[in-house]
Amino acid sequence: MTDATKEIDLSKTYTYKEMPDIQYARCDNCDYAHFNSSRKNGLFLRECRNCGMKKTI
Ligand SMILES: [Zn+2]
Repeated sequence: MTDATKEIDLSKTYTYKEMPDIQYARCDNCDYAHFNSSRKNGLFLRECRNCGMKKTI
């Protein structure tokens, strides 16, 4: 059974470990390819410029 209906919680910061990119360097939520990047606690935080989904990679 596939989990295609899994909802993205935009208030949450995901980690690459729990949610690897479906498409490399693209947002899992909206498929946008542009991000704001910053460093947070030594991790690289990637935030989608379109929908705001956050993931540390
Ligand atoms: Zn997005």
